[in-house]
Amino acid sequence: MGTNGEKETVVHVLWINAGLSCDGDSVSLTAAKNPSVEDIAMGILPGLPKVVFHWPLIDYDTGADFIEWFWKAARGEVDPFVLVVEGSIANEALHDEGYWTGFGNDPATGQPVTLSAWLDMLCPRATAVIAAGTCATYGGIHAMSNNPTGAMGLADYLGWNWRSKAGLPIVNVPGCPVQPDNLSETIMYLLTQVNGKAPMIPLDNELRPTWLFGKTVHEGCDRAGYYEQGSFAKEYGSPQCLVKIGCWGPVVKCNVPKRGWMDGIGGCPNVGGICMACTMPGFPDKFMPFMDEPPGAKVSTKVMTVYGAIVRSLRSVTLGTVDREPKWRRRSATNEAMRAGPMPRGALSAVHPVGYHEARHPQSSNEGQASGQASGPASNQGRSV
Ligand code: SF4
Ligand code: SF4
Ligand code: SF4
Repeated sequence: MGTNGEKETVVHVLWINAGLSCDGDSVSLTAAKNPSVEDIAMGILPGLPKVVFHWPLIDYDTGADFIEWFWKAARGEVDPFVLVVEGSIANEALHDEGYWTGFGNDPATGQPVTLSAWLDMLCPRATAVIAAGTCATYGGIHAMSNNPTGAMGLADYLGWNWRSKAGLPIVNVPGCPVQPDNLSETIMYLLTQVNGKAPMIPLDNELRPTWLFGKTVHEGCDRAGYYEQGSFAKEYGSPQCLVKIGCWGPVVKCNVPKRGWMDGIGGCPNVGGICMACTMPGFPDKFMPFMDEPPGAKVSTKVMTVYGAIVRSLRSVTLGTVDREPKWRRRSATNEAMRAGPMPRGALSAVHPVGYHEARHPQSSNEGQASGQASGPASNQGRSV
């Protein structure tokens, strides 16, 4: 029961990490801070329902006790639930015997239950389905050209127009691994939505949350100023832009340079690593060989080298001016007089061509001059004070 006496919604999160996977997204999620898994699981965030995780990484249940929750969900005895899929889905039709993936055993046969069999049982009953990491979203590393498993992402398996029984599309949170807070925030959003306290999650054409994947790496990169000034690193360890040593940031949708990696710290190019486009549907094939200059960068860096040289030279002139205090802050006879207070009229003119009264009241000294002329302390900059 909730605090008002109404029946409290309990949402189960069923997590299958049995795709072709390294479990890196599970490990990544343990580092989430905004929100953390603990925040979600302990229900300390407003709008969230009571949440029960069935996640191999942290669950107290193991073996048959753990898997039983998935069988219950397959029988319709767990509702509502959010299904999280980690790892790419193998095409089990591509072999005559054995299996590419397995998650628990079928009690009837004693044989491993493949990921695709679980998806066929669970997806029609799920309120929402999340693909966590680039393997689950778009196939990732396992789905490289010529792989023998026929690996694919969840949308390629279920269909891009698939809808859950609650009418939700698959929600893709790519990254290899996924950025921790991107995943925890998306899980939190969906749980809040399932609880009836958030509108439909906004997704782009590749089914990514728009507020997380709407901008490029380049747009949030600490090194973008170097790019704009045509300053390009030739080797690792340089603080300059990394595009000529393989950074794909200008054409990659990812918020990691803005958000950092853990608790705001890190963020690939910010800390010296090229962006190799791990969030993108075309990863890795379309971005290889890694660490070579991207083809498009050859043209853009030529343009930026010329433009940047001009901009740098103009800025160095301005910098030379604005990197100094205004003249009236320096120690001089006139400024000493201005600070010293009243003096006999004419006393200062004996030591400086600018009269005491003029120095004290530059505006009045301008009376009679053309209107619109600079006045006040700034007008002293044009004088030999
Ligand atoms: Fe591992 Fe990367 Fe695949 Fe996640 S997306 S399972 S981190 S290889
Ligand atoms: Fe853009 Fe990459 Fe250079 Fe950063 S390091 S400014 S993301 S090209
Ligand atoms: Fe992946 Fe690039 Fe984002 Fe780093 S900045 S997480 S390499 S897409």
